[in-house]
Amino acid sequence: MRGTAESIARAYARRWLWKAVAPAAVPLFVALTLLLIPLALIAAPEARTESASSACSIGGTGATVAGIELDAVQMGAAQTIVTVAAAQELDPYAATVALATAYQESRIRMLANDGSSPRLTAEQAAVTATSLTYPHDGLGSDHDSVNTFQQRWIAGWGTVAQLMDPVYAAEAFFTRLVEVPEWQNVPLTQAAQAVQISAAGGAYAQWGPLARELTGMLWPAAQSTAAGPAGAAPGVCPGLPVAAGSWIRPTTGTVTSGYGSRQGALHAGVDIAGPRGSPVYAAAEGTVLTAACTSAYCDRDGSLSLAGYGNLIELDHSAGVTTRYAHLSGYTVIAGQQVLAGTLIGFQGSTGNSTGVHLHFEVRTDGAAVDPVPWLAGHGVDLQTPHPG
Ligand SMILES: [Zn+2]
Repeated sequence: MRGTAESIARAYARRWLWKAVAPAAVPLFVALTLLLIPLALIAAPEARTESASSACSIGGTGATVAGIELDAVQMGAAQTIVTVAAAQELDPYAATVALATAYQESRIRMLANDGSSPRLTAEQAAVTATSLTYPHDGLGSDHDSVNTFQQRWIAGWGTVAQLMDPVYAAEAFFTRLVEVPEWQNVPLTQAAQAVQISAAGGAYAQWGPLARELTGMLWPAAQSTAAGPAGAAPGVCPGLPVAAGSWIRPTTGTVTSGYGSRQGALHAGVDIAGPRGSPVYAAAEGTVLTAACTSAYCDRDGSLSLAGYGNLIELDHSAGVTTRYAHLSGYTVIAGQQVLAGTLIGFQGSTGNSTGVHLHFEVRTDGAAVDPVPWLAGHGVDLQTPHPG
């Protein structure tokens, strides 16, 4: 864990730039890509999503809809889709078609794409990988497809920046849907397939019951918020009711390893282990310093032989206090973003130098690590009491 957050972020940015510009890099890139193909095949047809199995356990709401469990992140993404349909004064059936499509394509998750598809040129891969710099809660690798609908920038759906905006993504879907002749009267599968031009069109139908029930649940909220300026759901996990200046427990779970010397090296934080995909929240108000993969790869679990924090979020709370959240399966904030205590920033995972799902949490004052347990206790948070969620 050496090097400042800045150098880590720079190294990360350099990796992608390097892929884009160095012709000599191509053979190595192709080799890396070939290594990734088997993984992509194993995962097909479902994208390599980071499954957030639990709801926002200390805030936010998941739901079981038509027998399918959706966590708060999925519910938030679904609400955005329904809200955009309502804002455009479309028939609720439009939202139903969109939700069935999104569930088939991404399980209603905002998927970034690391550009590892062998069907992309190095240049296309680099552009596609810029999706990683936008908030997302999972990773896909199908061509240049990104977002909840798996829309493709190469196919003219919009720029990567536009497609990683959940409101734009839904608007783009509806723009094409309303061009389908008689879209309100054609079966769901036919409408979805006409928009998506997907080879797996038949698969949409099975999500009809889920999509209809979700639309029924979310449409009233959509109508009441559609008057809002952006029309988006306020946040995938709503901010917790935390008083200004206070601190909170960053995630659910049990402390499995404390701060201190571990086999001759300093374990600079505390490990809190909960279920894979448990939401991780900003422990206090601050600014995002780092939101990046800091290991050689973060699209899957790491190991003890892999160096680095994996997916890392670092927050600056001013007055020299920073916090780090490591080994995340995915993250939902970007560098420079302001967060409140209780803002969702990512999900528990096992990326980087890790052998099991947990959050590695650090508190630093003037750059030096301190024991987070007494430090948080001094700010009214008891980490030691197990928190099952
Ligand atoms: Zn740790």
